[in-house]
Parts: sequence; C-alpha cells; structure tokens
Amino acid sequence: MGDNQRLLRAGDPRNSMSEARTVVVAVYDYFKESFPPEMVGRIGRLYLGHGGGTPLPIPRTRYRLLREFLEKLGFRTGRGGVNPPARQAGARAGVTSFGKNCFAFAEGIGSFVEIDTLVIDGELEYDRPTMQVSCPDKCTLCIDACPTGALYEPLRMNPLMCVAYNSYATPGSFLGDGQIVLRMDIRERMGVWIYGCDICQQVCPHNQPRLKAKLLPNAYLAQVAADFRLEKLLNMSAAYFRDKVYPLMHYIKDGRYVQRNAAVALGNLGQDEAVPHLARAMRDPDELVRGHAAWALGRIGGREVLEILEGSLATECSEYARSEIIAASGVSRSTGGY
Ligand code: SF4
Ligand code: SF4
Repeated sequence: MGDNQRLLRAGDPRNSMSEARTVVVAVYDYFKESFPPEMVGRIGRLYLGHGGGTPLPIPRTRYRLLREFLEKLGFRTGRGGVNPPARQAGARAGVTSFGKNCFAFAEGIGSFVEIDTLVIDGELEYDRPTMQVSCPDKCTLCIDACPTGALYEPLRMNPLMCVAYNSYATPGSFLGDGQIVLRMDIRERMGVWIYGCDICQQVCPHNQPRLKAKLLPNAYLAQVAADFRLEKLLNMSAAYFRDKVYPLMHYIKDGRYVQRNAAVALGNLGQDEAVPHLARAMRDPDELVRGHAAWALGRIGGREVLEILEGSLATECSEYARSEIIAASGVSRSTGGY
C-alpha cells in the first residue's frame, strides 16, 4: 500500500476498529532535558528525545503504556498501524494547533512534541477542536530560514526538498524507498544535519522559551555522544551501526546511508582535519561511501585532496564513484588554483 493510501485509510478511525467511538490523543513533550551540544544541529531533537537507553525505543514504550492505560479503564483499543494522522487528530482533539511550518504546537510547550493517537470503543467527554494556525499574521521566520525552500509557503512543505526527509528517506526506511545517492542540489544545503533538521522549529518564537530554558542534561546521550562523531560514523562497521547508531537513528535500516550523510556533513564543515578520515573512506568497500567521500573532499579542496582523488581514480572500478571523483577533482582544481 502506498503512503497516500495508508494515510487515507488511517483518516477513518473505523479502519482501526469497526466499533470506533473516540480517538484518544496524547502529547509527549520530548525536550524536557538538554541534549549534548555536539549532537544538536546534526540530529533532530525529536530523535535525540528518543534516546533514553530503554530496551524498546521510547515511542513504542510510550504507545504501549497508553494502550495498557486505556485497556485498564475497560476500553477496547484499535489496531496499531492505522492510527489517525497525528497532527490532524491533535487539532481536532483540542490539544495542538498548527504552525505555518507544518508542525503541531502544544500550548505552553511549543512544537517539540510528539503525538500518539489511539482509537477506542467508548465515548468520552470531547474537548473543543483547536484547528487554527497559532502564528502571528506577519511572521514568516520559518519559511525564510528553510535552507532548501522546502517550506515554500505557510502550511505547505515539499518533502522531496526537505533536509530531514532526504537524510533518512532511504531504501528500506519506513518512509518508503528514498534516494540512494543524495541529490546534488541539496548536499550543500544539508549543512551538517545527518538525521533530521530542526531549523524551522529553532527559529520559531513559540519555541524560544524552551530553547533558552536551563534543562538537566540527558544522561544517556551524554554517555553516547562521542559515538556519533562524524568521522566515526563515516568509517563505521556494520556492527558499530547495529549496536551504537541504529537504536537512535532507526528510520535508517542500513549504515551506508549514515556514512553517506556523515561524508556530506564533513565536506560542508570544510575542515582539513577531516581529510585523513575521508581518504580512508575512499577505500571503503561501498561505492556509495566512496562517492560521497569524494564529493566531501572536493568541498574541502587543496593539493593533498587532489592527490588523494587522483590516486583513488587510478584504482576505482565503479562508474558511479568515478563520476563523483572526476567532478570533485574539477571542483578542487577550480577552487585551489591547480
Ligand atoms: S525541516 Fe529543515 S529543510 Fe525541512 S522544511 Fe524545516 S527547515 Fe526546511
Ligand atoms: S516561525 Fe513564525 S510563522 Fe513559523 S511557525 Fe513559528 S510563529 Fe509560525
């Protein structure tokens, strides 16, 4: 079933349970602790907020608790997988409103919230819907700040241009089959985001109180932050991905896409210290990693980079990787004056 069909199906609560009477909506504030500064700006806060070191990912644990709570009250609950669309249900249930950046906003919290919906067979006292857009008329800060133009007008976002979507919509991900090779017109604009993007939430006035609040650090993330250093991700093994990275970045099913994103981020950082790590990545068995490492080297440029690229080209068998190396060598020559 395609994404659109799944969404249409989920829009009717009777597809979750034929005796559906009520959609219960719960809002979870995922930004109650602060996150390590070296992870912020690279991994979206939503995914950092999932990092609690629990055996089950936090969203699944939370959903199970909600279901158990409602069943203890005597309700039957609907099937998972066809729960009503979260942001629409949140507004109809009166717990969130809409922002022009397409996010749901909860009063007193902002948009750093996650919404769970569950269909039950009983009637409750219903809250008044809050379908309105909660933005000042003249505010366009989120639209202006979007690095790719994905957010192109109030309440309109093109996912194909969105940094977050491009970072994790990869083959096998729950978003369906995304791109293998990152599109050229978005690489530079991804900056150092490797999983998600928070820019259109960070600039929002409604989120400033939480962003400026003094929060206790997330103890689990403080322990694992060093595992997410870009150079480690770039040259990680499959076991490293499975054990250390996947628990936090579980939309991505194959570590090669995290390596790809790390290469692009290192290229955009543009620091010479990344060159030995990218040179090592040029010997990775995966052409996808070699190709993006070549692009990153081209962004950094310089004589040493050019020598690495020329050496790699001499032994490169993959047509795809060769094309990246040739393009990167051209960029390196034009910026370095060689
Ligand atoms: S998440 Fe990032 S790229 Fe996507 S719409 Fe927001 S600012 Fe734009
Ligand atoms: S930045 Fe402004 S326009 Fe965008 S969601 Fe926030 S208040 Fe609304």
